[in-house]
Amino acid sequence: MDEVHEAVLFTESSPLVDLPCACGKGKKTTRCTDCNQHEPVCDTCFIAEHSSTPFHRVEKWNGQFFQKGTQGELGRKLYIGHGGKQCPYLPAGQKGRHLDIIDVNGTHSFRTFYCHCPSVTDGAWKQLTMAGLFPSSIDRPSTVFTFGVMKLFHLLSTIGKTSAMDFVQCLKRRTDGAFPNDSQVSNCLLFTSSSYASLRKHIRLFFEPSEFG
Ligand SMILES: [Zn+2]
Ligand SMILES: [Zn+2]
Ligand SMILES: [Zn+2]
Repeated sequence: MDEVHEAVLFTESSPLVDLPCACGKGKKTTRCTDCNQHEPVCDTCFIAEHSSTPFHRVEKWNGQFFQKGTQGELGRKLYIGHGGKQCPYLPAGQKGRHLDIIDVNGTHSFRTFYCHCPSVTDGAWKQLTMAGLFPSSIDRPSTVFTFGVMKLFHLLSTIGKTSAMDFVQCLKRRTDGAFPNDSQVSNCLLFTSSSYASLRKHIRLFFEPSEFG
């Protein structure tokens, strides 16, 4: 059993921490809890390695232990459209909008920037949906749910009769940090899940049932 404890404790620290990062510009301080065996790198390299996985969670060495966090807290911005890259028509000086994103591993907050291409007339809610993020309101959405978390809630509420509030409490524990107002998120989830359920009925016409919950 001692060897098991030793092996588990190994995951709580890293012999590489605070060594120079391979980029030569920072120290190895930041690792991923969602990638398997992700070794610490500097914040800049972490974000570069996660260009298509902005919702992987972060652990950053604070001098004593790895502190849990999100990529938004590292200063990462979220770009909607263009495969997650910045829109070439983004007006200079834009500060972006605050967006709370609820995923299966908890909550993430980002400064978010939308596509401004002249040919694109879609509003924020449609751009978010096309990026795989289900908005909880049509007007100025500020809370969105990933398709993954909607699918998980749908299964748990259908099979396990889990309430929206219990589900939100589980996500809050997973977040290990600042979490938006519980009952507000729960209400958003209930509203969004009814849209999701009707969407599922339509999408089932095009996909195998197992592909879309
Ligand atoms: Zn990762
Ligand atoms: Zn680096
Ligand atoms: Zn654009």
